[in-house]
Amino acid sequence: MSEFDFDLFVIGAGSGGVRASRVAAAHGAKVAVAEEYRVGGTCVIRGCVPKKLLIYGAHFAEDLKDARRFGWNVPDCGFEWTTLRDNVLGEVDRLEGLYGNTLNSHKVEVIRERATVTGPHGVKLASGREITAKVILIATGAWPIVPEIDGAEHGITSNEVFHLDECPSRIVIVGGGYIANEFAGIFHQFGAQVTMVNRGSDLLRGYDEQIRDRLLQISMTKGINFRFNAKMERIEKRDDGTLCLHFESGDPIAADIILFATGRRPHSDGLGLETAGVELNEKGAIKVDEYSRTSCESIYAVGDVTDRLQLTPVAIREGHAFADTVFGGNKRKVDYSCVPSAVFSHPPLAGVGLTEAQAKNQYGTVKVYTSDFRPMKNVLAGREERALYKMVVDASTDKVVGLHMIGPDAPEILQAAAVAVKAGLTKQDFDDTVALHPSMAEELVLLK
Ligand code: NDP
Repeated sequence: MSEFDFDLFVIGAGSGGVRASRVAAAHGAKVAVAEEYRVGGTCVIRGCVPKKLLIYGAHFAEDLKDARRFGWNVPDCGFEWTTLRDNVLGEVDRLEGLYGNTLNSHKVEVIRERATVTGPHGVKLASGREITAKVILIATGAWPIVPEIDGAEHGITSNEVFHLDECPSRIVIVGGGYIANEFAGIFHQFGAQVTMVNRGSDLLRGYDEQIRDRLLQISMTKGINFRFNAKMERIEKRDDGTLCLHFESGDPIAADIILFATGRRPHSDGLGLETAGVELNEKGAIKVDEYSRTSCESIYAVGDVTDRLQLTPVAIREGHAFADTVFGGNKRKVDYSCVPSAVFSHPPLAGVGLTEAQAKNQYGTVKVYTSDFRPMKNVLAGREERALYKMVVDASTDKVVGLHMIGPDAPEILQAAAVAVKAGLTKQDFDDTVALHPSMAEELVLLK
């Protein structure tokens, strides 16, 4: 008989928490997971999944238009936000059910309550029940940051955007990162007038400069408005219910919706972590070692709450590696090198490895190959939009150290190419591969 109620108690049933629970249970551990909201976490409930479905929905705007050039007789089509919204939310419900089934089939006890830490081996549920566990895993994710300006309560975040009663005709999106660019594309395609407000002069810091510039140029051509170096002052709610964003200088912008996409803070507040001596960094992220162990021996943390790389597949790997290490007798670390990522903007962009600037810093001399082309489909559709692929190569070894692209299906293409970059293949290896014609991806093996 164990001296604890559970071998593992997980707080948070998102991507990292669910994977850790299920794998630890498969290794024979007695596991419980507490979730105060919905099983599935940010990715499934109010992030990647519903966002991607909205992206698909948004794409029809241009696809239906282009279809006419391909001979289809497409009458004027209307778009109904509520139909898409309800179907997306229905799919989210279905997936939440599947996540719950997975946990049940692995005999993980799911406790639908908020849980807080009371010590190295103790947790307390909102109902007052006290539970002990040999190991505790914190997987509580992150939460949108709302800038501190007067009237900020009139704005929304990505938590609310999937539930809007109607599609706005004017939307202001604050921020220039992942969420801002993705929703700018979505609402623009749904016919809204979109203005992106950025505190600096750069979009998508961290991505390759040429690719970011191409997104900006395409977005502007499509009709998305930008306000750079903007200092917000306050949001005013007018009598007719509309909003107005005021700046320290420059004209105010009127909108139906103001969406804050200004980063996400680790969700570590009020969890009682101090009772177990779990240390946080200056951003509120839980400090962990390479095995996801915190400053308290029996408490671990994975996913966005640790703010290593705020990406779902990374949280899943961290959860899996934790479970294998602690319960599977297989000590494993996560390899954070060459993690591919994508922004599902319109068009999407994706990258893996080093940007040109990073590679120059690291290797000194690099060779850069680009292909700047108009995809065949865009040509026939009469669409000027060009794709850009960029390969960064270490000049001394011929090794491909970075691959970056913007254009239709860029994330789908990059995922496959990321295998080659991760494996350390050379430019010559790409050149030695025969092109698959006609495709956009063939540009990768034809770079000159
Ligand atoms: P990002 O970190 O991508 O971008 C935040 C943006 O907000 C930046 O442009 C930043 O400007 C700006 N900003 C930050 N604070 C303020 C402020 N106080 N006032 C005005 N602007 C501000 O965050 P997101 O919210 O877009 O996304 C959160 C995270 O979620 C991402 O980092 C990503 O890891 C993940 N995510 C991943 C997706 C994917 O994989 N496709 C999709 C969506 C989210 P500056 O550049 O000056 O700092």
